[in-house]
Amino acid sequence: MTEMTDLAAFAREKGVKYFMISYTDLFGAQRAKLVPAQAIADMQTDGAGFAGFATWLDLTPAHPDMLAVPDAPSVIQLPWKKEVAWVASNCVMDGASLAQAPRNLLSRLIGEAAEMDLEIKTGVEPEFFLLTPEGTQISDPYDTAAKPCYDQQAVMRRYDVIAEICDYMLELGWEAYQNDHEDANGQFEMNWKYDGAMATADKHSFFKFMVKSVAEKHGLRATFMPKPIPGLTGNGCHAHISVWNTKTGKNAFADDTKELGLSDDGRHFLGGIMKHASALALITNPTINSYKRINAPRTASGATWAPNSVTWTGNNRTHMVRVPGPGRFELRLPDGAVNPYLLQAVIIAAGLSGLRSKADPGPRHDIDMYAEGHKIEGAPKLPLNLLDAIRAYDADAGLKAAMGEEFSAAYIKLKSQEWNSFVNHFSPWERENTLDV
Ligand code: ADP
Ligand code: MG
Ligand code: MG
Ligand code: MG
Ligand code: MG
Repeated sequence: MTEMTDLAAFAREKGVKYFMISYTDLFGAQRAKLVPAQAIADMQTDGAGFAGFATWLDLTPAHPDMLAVPDAPSVIQLPWKKEVAWVASNCVMDGASLAQAPRNLLSRLIGEAAEMDLEIKTGVEPEFFLLTPEGTQISDPYDTAAKPCYDQQAVMRRYDVIAEICDYMLELGWEAYQNDHEDANGQFEMNWKYDGAMATADKHSFFKFMVKSVAEKHGLRATFMPKPIPGLTGNGCHAHISVWNTKTGKNAFADDTKELGLSDDGRHFLGGIMKHASALALITNPTINSYKRINAPRTASGATWAPNSVTWTGNNRTHMVRVPGPGRFELRLPDGAVNPYLLQAVIIAAGLSGLRSKADPGPRHDIDMYAEGHKIEGAPKLPLNLLDAIRAYDADAGLKAAMGEEFSAAYIKLKSQEWNSFVNHFSPWERENTLDV
């Protein structure tokens, strides 16, 4: 990220030949036009034209052109291809901001928080696998340990990929601070410092683009798919959340005198997340495959590290929400398929609704949820599949309104189509279990 606001000047100064004017659709796909630097000045004001129907935005072929207008301060020169720069953009149609476009939606919610003198700051932990190019196998044939987390030998076998990505994050000033082999064979995590919600969403998007690009350069395939290998731990994308008072510059979630160092505002914000959890799972766990990560049986390593129920606790990784230390909490529900902008948006939408209604997160449970979860009475189970999540979201009028009626209608429609496509697909399981009825 840079303070640069004139993209043509940026190109001259950095030797950039092409800009990727990029936007993210409702399914989280990044769409771009590659624009030569000679043409960027006009595009910066007018935007690049797209046929919106050709992407996941719930538009028709008859809609007018959608313009992706670059948000210049988000520009990033590709560290692995310096003649190209990526710039996030906002979707505009007929002179108005397209309400359901994920980045526009996040801007609106950040604005609502700002009116309350609040800034949401978050850090994300997008886990990923390094697979063979066709995406069917773990790329490292020796990565077979039963408990592979933090495997020193295996992380060094992928040092060239991991260090290249980490070097780029350092070069970009993201304050990267650790990299490790994660809990599944072939799985990795790389961490950088938290930032404002929009900056984190842009970095999260760029991170996925960068990891996939660098992996391809090394002849590998990176995937953020929630559960790419049956029986192994899936790809989470935990979010750590704190809210800051813009007047005082202080963390509004921090209060040493309160339970786990979480202020009353922090509790209410958390209360909003707890109250809307089953509905917001449609955003945090947006694919058919997402529901093979949550509610999953024990994995080969011993634990899924993913939640099953709507519960919270202190520093204990078996619940949906963990309070790892004072002044913030960790939402462990999101997975690798989450749309970076919608993730931040739904956190803010649910959290602000909790703040406004002074929501109570209920009692915390300091137990091992995997072993003793059945002992908690009344904790809602998370949705069991995408249809369950669609219905939970559709039933939550408050969250739908907070996310915006245009967005909610579009999202429910497209996700219902996805569910229908899935159930209309005949699987070998059906024949195996039904042929001889
Ligand atoms: P863990 O694996 O223990 O959950 P990580 O170190 O992998 O934790 O990731 C923690 C994330 O939380 C990082 O992005 C970090 O910058 C972020 N973080 C730390 N403090 C805060 C805070 N006050 N508000 C928001 N995010 C935070
Ligand atoms: Mg054409
Ligand atoms: Mg982590
Ligand atoms: Mg992890
Ligand atoms: Mg975590």
